Amino acid sequence: PGRDEILVCIEAAGLCHSDLSVINGDRPRPVPMLLGHEAAGRVMELGAGVDDLAVGDRVVLTFLPRCGDCAGCVSNGRTPCAKGSAANNAGTLLSGERRLSRESGAVHHHLGASAFATAAVVDRRSVVRVDSDVPADIAALLGCAILTGGGAVLNVAPPAPGSRVFVVGLGGVGMAALLVALALPDVSVTGVDPDDRKRETAR
Ligand SMILES: [Zn+2]
Ligand SMILES: [Zn+2]
Repeated sequence: PGRDEILVCIEAAGLCHSDLSVINGDRPRPVPMLLGHEAAGRVMELGAGVDDLAVGDRVVLTFLPRCGDCAGCVSNGRTPCAKGSAANNAGTLLSGERRLSRESGAVHHHLGASAFATAAVVDRRSVVRVDSDVPADIAALLGCAILTGGGAVLNVAPPAPGSRVFVVGLGGVGMAALLVALALPDVSVTGVDPDDRKRETAR
């Protein structure tokens, strides 16, 4: 790892629709690219300048690193980081560097994570530390499905007590929205999905 970067041993990674959208071209990205952005792991090595993590810490990877300085970062924290977005579009880490390669040349990073691997070098600002007793396969979901579905409920349309929330689609993101909504006081949820198994799981 370079300055402000860490090496993470990947313990669990989920396959997200955003990965599939890169594969089928719906979301054009520079190629070749190592996919995988919903993951958790253990810190194996600290780069220079990283003093708020320890080797062995469990971390969740996040798909949009925050530089902390741009207009998006210094406002309310809900506007995407300009530098992080630019790095994601370019297929680099937040520094603008790439740490992946193969014989024929560079390999691009996927959303600063590239977690479909045994280990990944990522920017310090691409991870959030979690307690070690959070199982890795649960922690990984915090990196995309939970923050996308749960974040929509909490930040975009926070339901008042007495509200009923309607969730369309009970995949990973929909289930996260459902669970977060049910955790709020006096909120009920109606979920719809054409798949019997998903409806059964939601019940
Ligand atoms: Zn995702
Ligand atoms: Zn920023």
